[in-house]
Amino acid sequence: MELKFYNTLSRTLEEFKPVAAGEAKMYTCGPTVYNFAHIGNFRAYTFEDILRRTLEYFGYKVTQVMNLTDVDDKTIRDSKAAGLPLNEFTQKYKNAFFDDIKTLNIEPAEVYPPATCHIPEMISMIGKLMEKGYAYKASDGCVYFSIAKFEKYGQLARIDRDNQRDGVRISNDEYAKDAVGDFALWKAWDADDGDVAWDSPWGKGRPGWHIECSAMSMKYLGDNFDIHTGGVDNMFPHHEDEIAQSEAVTGKKWVNYWLHCEHLMVNNTKMSKSLGNFFTLRDLLDKGWSGREIRWVLIGAHYRKKLNFTFDALKIARETLGKFEEFFKRLRSVKNAGDGSAVVEALESAKNGFASAMADDLNISMALASLFDLMRNINRIADENKLDTAGAEMVLDAFRNFDRIIGCFEVDNVKAEEAIPAEVTALAEARAAARKEKNWAESDRLRDEIARLGYTIKDAPGNVWQLQKN
Ligand code: AMP
Ligand code: ZN
Repeated sequence: MELKFYNTLSRTLEEFKPVAAGEAKMYTCGPTVYNFAHIGNFRAYTFEDILRRTLEYFGYKVTQVMNLTDVDDKTIRDSKAAGLPLNEFTQKYKNAFFDDIKTLNIEPAEVYPPATCHIPEMISMIGKLMEKGYAYKASDGCVYFSIAKFEKYGQLARIDRDNQRDGVRISNDEYAKDAVGDFALWKAWDADDGDVAWDSPWGKGRPGWHIECSAMSMKYLGDNFDIHTGGVDNMFPHHEDEIAQSEAVTGKKWVNYWLHCEHLMVNNTKMSKSLGNFFTLRDLLDKGWSGREIRWVLIGAHYRKKLNFTFDALKIARETLGKFEEFFKRLRSVKNAGDGSAVVEALESAKNGFASAMADDLNISMALASLFDLMRNINRIADENKLDTAGAEMVLDAFRNFDRIIGCFEVDNVKAEEAIPAEVTALAEARAAARKEKNWAESDRLRDEIARLGYTIKDAPGNVWQLQKN
């Protein structure tokens, strides 16, 4: 099956053809480590996780590089405010980031290069841009990239070159979208930088943000690689500037596929640190939500569509994952012998539906619809008492496989839960039967017996029960 992605560069759906057969090399703009990442940032990182897992599902060997921006205006400003050396300050947030991605079951990238460990590579790249005449040192001591020298400037963001303002220089990395101008490659030291500075042929200073991603991606992935990702807000100026620097140095195409994810919104506004309308992952964990419930919400909408964050969505995630848990439990409790033929058709249709949806530009809503259909079909087969142990195991195995991408089902965790002795389960079943007949005395007696064996039985509406080890 062919993989297709929407390439922002061409604004079309394109078949994925890697540079090296069977391999996928991707670069992902990572966090600026001056604070805890919020779940808007994690929408971008979970999208990238779904992308890498899908590539792996289709047999590609993935090499993913995600940078850690550990020097910029914000890290310097906040480390000073905290009275800590820059490295010590950013280390705390690097650790937090790695904890958070584990909580969200995001597969780790192969390389997490920190910017501060790659200053020589950035200086070397700026040197080449100077040699080739794309860069110049201005009277403020900073080195700038001259966008007028790079013909193709604007190719990604589709900026109208005629409207570009000549002579505008921007040393701040995060200038407004409409302010097109020469951007800083090397920023001259000033008093606000304190003791954060490196020597360079252009004087003491530090690199701009954009050069970081160009230098580090090329170091680990080569001059021309497959995929570059980020949130849509990274597209301009950050990614446009990355392309300009990289292609100016090599004289050839840098990245083949650009994938950008839309924003996580709150009441129709982008979730962002500066607007204060954000939740960190930790905020939600403190409120009692689990990593996999949060992950389910973040991955649930197509990556190119805006996703509105609500607590109702988390509630639905809890209910939905609970339904799948019950379903897996039911599959494990099947006792009928057989060859599994009753499930084959439903299973094949779900596997094809899932794979073709994910191959079609990561169409997760369609892929999940196949899984809901499968659950419904198998439940119907079980209701008709046609499900056998072989069929149940085939379905469980299929979900293990789907979970290589989805990362929320934890099919085998249910197994651990099910290691409850058969004797205890039989007592719980007898108790449910007694309750159905409103035989409360017998029900209480059975509950006490279950307790003596070290288990607590919890009831839920609809004569549903759950056993927990004490
Ligand atoms: P930053 O730390 O602001 O550079 O952002 C890190 C990553 O998160 C980038 O890829 C951003 O595009 C992305 N991002 C930031 N806010 C959101 C949001 N509300 N929804 C989705 N992605 C976001
Ligand atoms: Zn970047």
